[in-house]
Amino acid sequence: MAYNICVLPGDGIGPEIMEQGLKVLQAVGDRFNLEFSCDKHLLGGCAIDACGDPFPEETRVAAKAANAVLLAAVGGPKWDSTNPDARRPEEGLLGIRKELDLFANIRPIHVFPPLVDASSLKPESLEDVDLVIVREATGGLYFGAHGRELDVPGAGSDGKPGMAAFDALDYNEGEIERIARSAFQMARSRGKRLHSVDKANVLETSRLWRQVMHRVGEEFPDVELIDMLVDNAAMQLVAYPAQFDVLVTENTFGDILSDEAAALTGSLGMVASASLGPDSSLYEPAHGSAPDIAGKGLANPLAMILSVELMLRYSFEADAAANAILVSINRVLAAGYRTPDLADTDTPADHIISCSSMGGLVAANL
Ligand code: NAD
Repeated sequence: MAYNICVLPGDGIGPEIMEQGLKVLQAVGDRFNLEFSCDKHLLGGCAIDACGDPFPEETRVAAKAANAVLLAAVGGPKWDSTNPDARRPEEGLLGIRKELDLFANIRPIHVFPPLVDASSLKPESLEDVDLVIVREATGGLYFGAHGRELDVPGAGSDGKPGMAAFDALDYNEGEIERIARSAFQMARSRGKRLHSVDKANVLETSRLWRQVMHRVGEEFPDVELIDMLVDNAAMQLVAYPAQFDVLVTENTFGDILSDEAAALTGSLGMVASASLGPDSSLYEPAHGSAPDIAGKGLANPLAMILSVELMLRYSFEADAAANAILVSINRVLAAGYRTPDLADTDTPADHIISCSSMGGLVAANL
């Protein structure tokens, strides 16, 4: 049986890193006797250009029917506009997450030993860093009511009428409960320590979050639950990251903290994520479409390749194939091969290679 994968290359560096991800997928399939059927579809800016809709119906149908969705990245300055009525590539991203009900975003932070020097943290701070961020991804601020008002009395400069905007943050018990359960299960399968990150000293949604986390926690007495305020968590992540096993947090805090945690690995180009829902799953790099380096062969394809690794592990239960990808990446990095974002200026012996060469080496070393 062939696994049916909905492939969404997207914008910017998306198509070039996706090519490398699919190269590795093909190689791992050959080695482990797995068959994949990959169909490409449009999402984001390329979809706006093709049909005026960042999340076309044809993509929606294909994504829902697939065994898994593999996405590169969307967005770019071409589609940035201050016009509030203009369609934006990110609508495609939020749309597919909502449509597939991908409420749990899982981001493992794994520091590859050959890259310890690429991180901005001291090597000793990175010892034993192995954490997972579980982010609620279909609720909160990004999905609440939002809008703009014109000519609001007193909102302009000098007390004149002016514009105002609002974004509402709301969560209900059910939304918190299901992400709590995913996070506790993840912690139970790992180090049995869960940090729940909130802003309960200020936000009512956070107070509800904390209440529900503790209620669900009673079902997981073997998991240690620690509450942490988001500002402290942001600081602890860079001061003492090894203390964390699993962190769970709401959408906006998770968006920011997971990028901060990604920096521990040395580059955003090294971090992948899985977005899981009741019937669907989507895998994508943590980074964006990097329009500044698109089309130049400079992109690091490893986060895309690690997205393939997560897909094999979580959607196809092909752990041996997933582990082989990790071993291959480690081997290629240990041999000194680096894309420019990972290059260490103090290590002139590094071999700086292109996006496509990196994909080729990982595939060849499987
Ligand atoms: P970005 O992640 O695209 O880039 C940030 C910096 O990291 C840039 O300097 C870029 O060159 C570099 N970088 C990112 N990925 C890299 C890789 N694989 N290899 C080497 N260097 C890499 O973030 P941004 O600049 O804030 O956003 C650019 C566009 O991407 C925007 O339109 C944004 O909306 C979009 N975006 C999309 C997603 C997504 O598709 N999931 C996520 C974040 C941002």
